[in-house]
Amino acid sequence: SGPMTVGELAKSLKKEPSEVIKKLMMLGIMATINQEVDMDAITLIAEEYGIEVEHKVEVDETQFELIEEQDDPALLKERPPVVTVMGHVDHGKTTLLDTIRHTNVTAQEAGGITQHIGAYQIDYEQKKITFLDTPGHEAFTTMRARGAQVTDIAIIVVAADDGVMPQTREAINHAQAAKVPIIVAINKMDKPEANPEKVKQELMELNLVPEEWGGDTIFVPISALKGEGLDELMEMVLLVAEMEELKANPDRLATGTVIEAELDRGKGPVATVLVQNGTLRVGDPIVVGNTYGRVRAMTNDKGRRIKEAGPSTPVEITGLQDVPQAGDQFKVFEDEKKARAIGEARAEKQKQEERAATSRVNLDELFQQI
Ligand code: GDP
Ligand code: MG
Repeated sequence: SGPMTVGELAKSLKKEPSEVIKKLMMLGIMATINQEVDMDAITLIAEEYGIEVEHKVEVDETQFELIEEQDDPALLKERPPVVTVMGHVDHGKTTLLDTIRHTNVTAQEAGGITQHIGAYQIDYEQKKITFLDTPGHEAFTTMRARGAQVTDIAIIVVAADDGVMPQTREAINHAQAAKVPIIVAINKMDKPEANPEKVKQELMELNLVPEEWGGDTIFVPISALKGEGLDELMEMVLLVAEMEELKANPDRLATGTVIEAELDRGKGPVATVLVQNGTLRVGDPIVVGNTYGRVRAMTNDKGRRIKEAGPSTPVEITGLQDVPQAGDQFKVFEDEKKARAIGEARAEKQKQEERAATSRVNLDELFQQI
């Protein structure tokens, strides 16, 4: 479909529709008078008549994409990798995430309370690594379905005593579709029945070939339960991160994605967001999905109040008018009025879309009854 029909095009060119249809045919486009033609065809036809077409692009102020603003490469600085752990049920995803966090917390800050905010960050050899604490494919696919890509590296956990299972394949498919580099963690190596060679063979059939067999997939044998092999796993994460040259510009207004959100009785709407570019600060006017607000308070994954959060940092924020959804993107604006105007416009648009969807449903119901 396109911006106008052949009839309308003929009218705007002050030509007979039959003549325009003939010209279109000459260009290899078969169209009737009521058929819509696309911008390319319109441009070609107009050129035939020596008319230059002004391409009017309607900019919807309420739409924003992270990709919109490109940063000057000179301003980019290294940022921590954001890692998602995926794999078949019971292969040890939760255990791995818990052990990594726990090891880090006890080492870095004895007695520190780790708060669950859907993501956490660890320090490993003077580098930071961010883990999304929502294992499973659902979180991953929900985000991607909403156009958000937050993961830089996928750790695929495969239990050495069980091998490749349906959700292992699914996880690999998701990571590959998202073009996210994969590290395979062969887990439960402490079990006597562990068979890592079998896992490698099964994964080779899915085109994940270990380096020692001439491929380029990193395999790390681990025991999430005993905490064995985790140093090597972290080193491999940092190695892949280095190869990916992950960068962001900390010196700009923040953009990022909602990891999870809920309505808290006391605090109101609470959202865990991942800052992907720029630095988020308390007091920032912000649009989040179809809502907006001003960042009232920020809490990090250790439950501490913080004033600012740079790229790849997960933080919990309050101060939003409404509860956003996981996968929603956020953007900070300099001007609170602008944030409010865009937020309200987006909320209104959502309401209209919901109304439209309901009326469509009602029509369908009506037709079914006839
Ligand atoms: P998830 O479903 O992938 O999150 O798997 P869980 O982390 O819940 O682990 C499933 C079961 O496997 C639990 O009983 C864990 O204690 C156990 N498990 C996880 N990792 C290991 C491991 O490295 N070795 C052994 N022996 N058991 C493990
Ligand atoms: Mg689990």
